[in-house]
Amino acid sequence: MALCDEGYRCEVCGQDVEDLTQSDLYLRYVLGEVDPETLHVRPERHLACNPSLAQFIVADSFPAVTVEGFFAKSELDPDFVAAEEARVTRGYLRLLELMSVDLPIVEYPLPEFRTRWQGLADGEAESESDKDREGEGAATVGTEPPNRSGRDTDEMSRR
Ligand SMILES: [Zn+2]
Repeated sequence: MALCDEGYRCEVCGQDVEDLTQSDLYLRYVLGEVDPETLHVRPERHLACNPSLAQFIVADSFPAVTVEGFFAKSELDPDFVAAEEARVTRGYLRLLELMSVDLPIVEYPLPEFRTRWQGLADGEAESESDKDREGEGAATVGTEPPNRSGRDTDEMSRR
């Protein structure tokens, strides 16, 4: 896996980020928060080294991360926490899944986030039902401008 070969270092602790399932960068990528064009230039971090995000991962295979203070889950709105847990945990499970399948990197993100970048990637991704309908229906604007100048000149010429 490319991530190992190039030995990405965590910008927080300086240790290698050994695989996808430890990667804060790739977690945010599968959640649609990182533009694939900038993925290779973004700093890498361990999930555990970014506790304010990692605290929302609720999975048996992930050692629970707790945050103290202002951004602790216990300090946040319960609805927000529940939504974040659902979202971030899905992203983490996606990383686990990616360890066992062979997908091009543009297809790493979860389906609902994949379309966000689809215009930027080379259009190799299979578009299932969600074809983009850009431009259809909005294109009927080309009516002629109201031509009043003709009448005006008629009136003028009568004078
Ligand atoms: Zn680290």
